Amino acid sequence: MERKQFKTEVSDLLHLIIHSLYSHKEIFLRELVSNASDALDKLKYKTLVDGKAVDGELRIDISFTEGDKRTLTISDNGIGMTHDELNENLGTIAHSGTKHFLANLTNDQKKDSNLIGQFGVGFYSAFMVADKVEVISKAYGEDQAYKWVSDGREKYTIEEAEREGCGTTIILHLNDEGKEFANRWQIENLIKQYSDHIAYPIYLAYDQNTYDDKYNVTGTEHKVDKINSAAALWARSKSELKEEDYNDFYKNTSYDSENPLFYIHTKAEGATEYTTLFFIPAKAPFDMYHADYKPGVKLYVKRVYITDDDKELLPTYLRFVRGVIDSEDLPLNVSREILQQNRIMTTIRNASVKKLLGEFKKIADQNPELYTKFIEQYNRPLKEGLYQDYANRDDLLELVRFKSTAVDGYTSLAAYKERMVPDQKGIYYITGSDENALKSSPLLATFKEKGIEVLLMTDDIDDLVISSVGKYKDIQLKAVNKSGTMDDFLTEDEKKKAKEEGTAVSEKLKKALGERVKEVVVSTRLKDVSAVVVTDENDPSVQMQQLMKAMGQGDYEGSAPILEVNAEDAFVKRIMDSNDDQFVSDAASVLLDQALLSEGVMPKNPAEFTRKLHSLLVK
Ligand code: ADP
Repeated sequence: MERKQFKTEVSDLLHLIIHSLYSHKEIFLRELVSNASDALDKLKYKTLVDGKAVDGELRIDISFTEGDKRTLTISDNGIGMTHDELNENLGTIAHSGTKHFLANLTNDQKKDSNLIGQFGVGFYSAFMVADKVEVISKAYGEDQAYKWVSDGREKYTIEEAEREGCGTTIILHLNDEGKEFANRWQIENLIKQYSDHIAYPIYLAYDQNTYDDKYNVTGTEHKVDKINSAAALWARSKSELKEEDYNDFYKNTSYDSENPLFYIHTKAEGATEYTTLFFIPAKAPFDMYHADYKPGVKLYVKRVYITDDDKELLPTYLRFVRGVIDSEDLPLNVSREILQQNRIMTTIRNASVKKLLGEFKKIADQNPELYTKFIEQYNRPLKEGLYQDYANRDDLLELVRFKSTAVDGYTSLAAYKERMVPDQKGIYYITGSDENALKSSPLLATFKEKGIEVLLMTDDIDDLVISSVGKYKDIQLKAVNKSGTMDDFLTEDEKKKAKEEGTAVSEKLKKALGERVKEVVVSTRLKDVSAVVVTDENDPSVQMQQLMKAMGQGDYEGSAPILEVNAEDAFVKRIMDSNDDQFVSDAASVLLDQALLSEGVMPKNPAEFTRKLHSLLVK
């Protein structure tokens, strides 16, 4: 038997791993299963290259013993390790992950525990749950097996051993921290959670009591169950999968009982290798608008589950997407902090967003019916993307849809553009809370007359989003309910004339209303109403200000609206003809309040409003 000292760095490393990964000690099983799966991958490849057949089924076997001396055994019939490999892989810092890890140690516990995540040093995590680890291994093509044994402190030994066939058997002598893992349900749960999609079958051996018909124990029976599904569906080639396979997989993994609207399966090869399988649920996830929504995309590294709780895998506006990202290049133990600034992850994320948006566009072009279903669920999150994801804004602008005065259902901006009349100066839109109210807004009179389409925007975020976007293909997006928009329809002479004629009206009403309005302007577009409120081009719309007040910004006063009056209206004419100060003041106030009311804004003092209205009616 050879007795060897660990390189000092390794004992430091062991110490560190045991202490800093302590709260996640169950990950040791994932690490060992993943190593076994790699060993099976390597054997599969080697036999392929050698043109030989694999002996029997490639598999991973787990067993355990209960009682005083609890052990857990993980065995594979993979590539195995030679004497030297045992020495190098498990006893020194030969492999690069460990070396980098040690070079980066900072002595700051918190930072270092993240580093462990960055550099795969998985095997050593076994010492969190075991005070002795035996590794019996026979390399592919060798006759002699070897046994490596260590208590994970200073020393390890290597000696000759017996093993049938190539592969590796790892026996953990569980310590107090690890004894809970000598348990059938624990093991099954951990495998289901972390290793369900390992491409090889994982078998669990256990003893089960047998009973007679009076439920007396008659003995024990030895059983072996396969405990993973052994099928990473996404790792299989698209050509061998049917729609049904995808749908079943989705329903099994998402707890959704309905088939997805569609799915997108991508294998990227080249500099960064990864597979993604994304599903779009038929119904938006119930928590889509909760701040603490659960992300729907799971991260795997080489079929090994890493996390299902990372909100950074896709941008938040794509939080309705379900599925899997499986990277070939990320380190297995990648931690969340590291993920966020990881170059590989950034590449995968950016490419995934492009892929998703590209696929949405394809469906929009080729399958309008399906796209409508999609939009009914996800139009709003896509709009969030317009201000979140500047880099993809142009693509997103092609995907969002709007209601409009020109068509039933939804329209795209591209289709609006097609319908624009010659010399039209912008894409016009009106925001508000109710589609029908918007359709009958007095502000639309001129547009109707001129046959110009107006987009009807009723999402609470429309104001914010559209004003941040500003333009679609160099065409200005213009709010109908903002001052200045109507200038588009007047010649310079008309503008001048309107201004001159309006001065008297504006001055009189502004004087009567004081600070309650920013300005009073005489309208060139109102037909059947006496007045409307609009906002200054740079101010948030009236609805937006309502929203801000509602969101608890209690001291938010908003900015005063602009009152746009119809100088031809009989009521406005009466005000102009009157010399009674009290009447002018009451009438102007009612004029403003009723304009606000039609925007859904309650008068500040309703009792005062009705009193004034009443006194006017009496007169
Ligand atoms: P990593 O897997 O990240 O390289 P580990 O510490 O988990 O780091 O394992 C170190 C090395 O030991 C592996 O790279 C592999 O060469 C070898 N090894 C571990 N487990 C097995 C196994 N079951 N079969 C064959 N080789 C193994």
